[in-house]
Order: sequence, then structure tokens, then C-alpha cells
Amino acid sequence: MNETTIIESICEDMKREAYWQAKGLRDLAKFAEHHPPGRPGVKLADGASEEIAASSNMSIRVATNRILEAEHIVRRLPETLNALQEGVIDMARTRATYQITKELSDEDALAVEKAVLAQGPHASYQEYRRALRRQAMKVDPEAAERKRKQKLEQRDVVTRKSEDGSAKLVATMLAGEAESAYNVLNHLAHQAKTPDDTRTLAQRRGDALVDLVLGNDQQRVRAIINVTVPLSTLIGLNETPGELSEYGPITAEQCRELARDGALRRLVTDDFGHLLEVGANLYASEGLANRIRMRDRTCRQPGCRVPGRRCRLHKSKRTTRGRRKQHRDYLLLCKRHQLMYQRTKGWIVAQPEPERLIFVTPTEQVREVVAERYEEPAA
Ligand SMILES: [Zn+2]
Repeated sequence: MNETTIIESICEDMKREAYWQAKGLRDLAKFAEHHPPGRPGVKLADGASEEIAASSNMSIRVATNRILEAEHIVRRLPETLNALQEGVIDMARTRATYQITKELSDEDALAVEKAVLAQGPHASYQEYRRALRRQAMKVDPEAAERKRKQKLEQRDVVTRKSEDGSAKLVATMLAGEAESAYNVLNHLAHQAKTPDDTRTLAQRRGDALVDLVLGNDQQRVRAIINVTVPLSTLIGLNETPGELSEYGPITAEQCRELARDGALRRLVTDDFGHLLEVGANLYASEGLANRIRMRDRTCRQPGCRVPGRRCRLHKSKRTTRGRRKQHRDYLLLCKRHQLMYQRTKGWIVAQPEPERLIFVTPTEQVREVVAERYEEPAA
């Protein structure tokens, strides 16, 4: 194959990909049409996103977004969808059109897509986006201001965990406030500089924020964190990693550091990852619910990651009759999914043996889920 044929082939592939993506959007929109909302305040029928998530390995949040996005594009942006199907534009441009026209009226959205498509796919994705924004501002000059106000209503602070033992703390606020806050931290970082301080300016900035928020006050109430640690690690026999709840694996050394800390709920496992004990007093008083919470960690509905502390116990089918309540009869479900089992027909969850869950969707897709162990079994 010579260079020209390879390039031609790549362009053909991209056109085909766009075609199938357009088809995917139409199929998802059809699915949405078959699952209209059954009660006020929701955009889809109960269990609709869960059905797609259970059949496709998508998270429920992603499935919901995809369905709603497809429904919106098919209904409101017909020319954009056709352009995607014909390979004139790609999925990224289609999605940008959806995002930028989302708040506009049907009529204005049509006007924007028409004006932008008339200029072709543009030289780059960024230029396409800019063209969309320009047209959107033209048809509805107040939309940008509305969006800014909406954004302000969504002000919040969230954590973004990474897998290397660090995490980011991300705050959404007005651009001006963010700038001022940064300037304050920068100022504190410069002030903290002493001749023998080897920290970089960036490090001092990070430390300044931590000091401001957490302070150095030892009396401050600390949140209890759950850490799961193999017994062999705890007593220093090996370096098997432990697990911090809602975060994931942490190093053996970090486990031992945390274990020396008072405000810690310790879960000790054997070398096969099964729970041996749940640290001292906290477990005895809270009982079974706590044990399930430790085992399941998050809502067990496939694709859902709502943390255990916001979940409740749900009784699964096929219980062990005549025996005392065992944790095999229960699983964690978040509020949304508990309600889903009450509101919709056809969903079944069974637990034939501990830690093995079988979910059956209303269209009889079967999904088997095995509880994640706290660690890999020892070799
Ligand atoms: Zn859930």
C-alpha cells in the first residue's frame, strides 16, 4: 500500500465511523422514544439508563447522558445529524453543536446549525466551536449571560482522585474570585519563603491552601476514614498494598502510617481478601449494615458508583431460609436504585452465593457481578 492509498483509506474509515455514529444516535433516540418519563421531574423512564448500562458496560451516568444527548440531537439538530451521517463533520463537532445550542429555543438552534454548516466543517474543531458560539450569541445575545449565572449557581468544590496517591481539589467559582484566591495563595507562598526553605513556589502555594483549610489545630474534628489492610502488612511481614475506601489501593507504608492514626476505622483481611475484623468499637455498635457497607463499598447496581455511606441495605432474592440474617442476603443500593426496584417491574437481583450477584434486566439481559476483593489472593 502506498502513502496515497493509506491516506484515502484513513479518510474512508473516518467517513464510515461518522456514519455509524449517526446511526448510533438514531438508535439511542429510538430507545428514548420507547422509554418516555413516567413521572414528573425526570427525563427518562425509570430503569432506562440502567438497562443500557447493564447491557453495555457503560456507567449509568454516561448512559443517561448519551441517551439524552442522542434524543436532543435527533429531535433538534436534523441537519447536523445528516452532515455527520454523510461524513461532512465528525462526532466532536456534532457534540459541540449540541452543547452550544442546548439552552437555545428550537428555532434558534436550527438557525445556528444552518449558519455554521453553510460554512463547511471549518479548518479545525476549535474554529468550528468558535463559529457555533458566534452564531449562538448572534441569535440569542442574552444566552451567554444566562449561562454565566447558571454556572455561578453550580459553584462547588469537588475532589478528583488520581491513582498515584495524590488528588486534586477543584473549586468552581466566578473567574474573578478564582483569580483573587490564587493571588492570595501566591502572596502567602512568597511570604513563607525563608533562606533554608527548599520548597518550590508551587509547593509553598499548595501548602498554603492546605494550612488555610485544614489549619494546624489538632483539636479539629476529623472525618473517619476506612482503610482495609491485610494483617500481614499491618504487622510488617510484607508490602501488600491496602485500600482506602472510595479511593482505592494505597501503599503498605501509607497503611502503616494511617494505622498509627487515631481517627481511622481499620478493616483487616486475610491473605485472600476476606474481611477478618472491622476495627474495634465502631463495628460492634453498627452491626450488619456496616459489614455489608464494608464489603460492597458502593451501590452494586452495574454502572453505579454512589459511595456506600450514601447507600442502604437491600434484600436480594433467594434468601437463606431458617438461618439468621447473613450478609449474603443483602447488598448495597443507593436511593435511586432502591426506588427503581420498587417502581419498575422486571428487575431482579439474586445472590446465589456470597459476593456473587446476578442482575436480570426487564428485557432479560443477565449480568453477573462478583464483589471486588480488597486485594488479589496471595499466590
Ligand atoms: Zn446506585
